[in-house]
Amino acid sequence: MQPDLTLAEENRELRQRVSILHHKAERNEQLLRAFFSAELDLLSCITLAELLDYLLNHFRQDFNLSAVTLMLLDPEDMVQELLDGSARFNHFPGLQLIRQQQPLRDLYPDSSLFCGEATPHIITTCFRGAEDVQSCALLPLIREDCLIGSLCLGSSDPGRYSHLLRYDYVSHLASVVAVCMENAISRETLQRLSSIDPLTRALNRRALSQQLLREIKRCNRTGEPLGCILLDIDHFKPVNDTHGHLSGDKVLRDISQLLKEQLRETDSIARYGGEEFAILLPGCPEPEATRVAENLRKCISQTLFSGHQNQALRITASLGITICEQQHTVDADVSELTESLIQTADQALYFCKHNGRNRVSFMPCLLKVSAQQ
Ligand code: GH3
Ligand code: MG
Ligand code: MG
Repeated sequence: MQPDLTLAEENRELRQRVSILHHKAERNEQLLRAFFSAELDLLSCITLAELLDYLLNHFRQDFNLSAVTLMLLDPEDMVQELLDGSARFNHFPGLQLIRQQQPLRDLYPDSSLFCGEATPHIITTCFRGAEDVQSCALLPLIREDCLIGSLCLGSSDPGRYSHLLRYDYVSHLASVVAVCMENAISRETLQRLSSIDPLTRALNRRALSQQLLREIKRCNRTGEPLGCILLDIDHFKPVNDTHGHLSGDKVLRDISQLLKEQLRETDSIARYGGEEFAILLPGCPEPEATRVAENLRKCISQTLFSGHQNQALRITASLGITICEQQHTVDADVSELTESLIQTADQALYFCKHNGRNRVSFMPCLLKVSAQQ
C-alpha cells in the first residue's frame, strides 16, 4: 500500500505545482496586458504635460504603486521653460529637473535597472516626501547611450520588487518612456522656438497672427468681444543712446515679464516689433480693456527698471486699444479683419504719442460692418 500512497501524494503535489504555475502564468499574462496597454497610452500622449501627467499620476494608480517619481536631465532649463508660464508645473510634484548628470550617474553606476529594497538613501534621493515605499524599481532612461533621466516606481509591498527576479517588461517600458520623453521635449522645443521671440520670450509675430486668428474665431463662436492693445515704449531710442543697447534689451525683457505678471494666463502677449508689444484680451469689452491698459501703463511708469549695469531707469509706455466685436467677425475676411484691428490699435497709439505719451487711448474697430448684419 505504501508505494500507492506515495504516488498519490506525489500526484497531489504535482497538481499543486501546476496550479501555482497556472496562477503565475495568468498573473503574468494580466501584467503583460497591463504593460501593453500602458505602452499604448504612453505612445498616444501628444504633449509633454500629457506624458508627465500619465507617468506621474495615472501610472501610479493603474499599477497600484505607492509612489512614482521622475528625474529629468534639463541642462539648459528647456523643460522648465516649456512647463513654466502655465500652472502645469504644479501638477507634477513627483518631477525633479536636474542640470547636472552626476546624480543620475550616482544612481545608475552601470546604467542598469535596479529592483529591490527601498533603502533610506533611495527614499531620500528618489522618493522625497513619499510615504510607505518598501520596495522599488529604479529605471534609467537612456537615449543614444546617454542617461537622460530616471523613472522611480515605489511600492508599499516589500516583496513587489526584488533583486532576485527579472523585470523584462519594466525595463522595456523604460526604453519606451525614454523615447516618448525625448520626442515630446524635441517636438515642443521646436514648436516653442518657432513661436517665441528669443529676447523677450513673448510670442513672435507669426504666433501672434495664428493666435489672433484663433481668437477671432472664438469671438465669432461665443459672441465675446476680443480686446486688442498695441503698446509702444516711449522715447526708447534715448534709453539705448544713453545706457547702451544691452540696457535697452534688458528693459524689453523686464517689460515683457511685467506684462506676463499683470495679465491673465488666457491673454496673449507678443513682441510686435522693436519696442512694441501686442496684447490680446479674450472676453474683454471696451471699459475693461481700457482698465487693463491703464493698469499696465501705471505699472510701467511706477516701476524702477534697471539697466545691464544696474543703472536706475524710468520708463513710460503708450497703449492703443481697439475691440473686435462679434458683428465684425460675421462674414468677415479674416485677414482683412486682422489687419484692421492692428491698424486701429496703431491709430489709437498714434493718438497717444501726439498727445503727450504715457497714456492710453481707445478707438472702435475701423472695419466697416456690412448693412445686412
Ligand atoms: P516714441 O516715443 O515715439 O516711440 O520714441 P522711440 O524712441 O521709442 O521710437 P523710435 O521709433 O524713434 O525708436 C525705437 C527704438 O527702439 C530704436 C531702436 O534702437 C530701439 N529698438 C528696437 N528694437 C530693439 C531691440 O531689440 N533692442 C534694443 N535695445 N533696442 C531696440
Ligand atoms: Mg515703435
Ligand atoms: Mg517707442
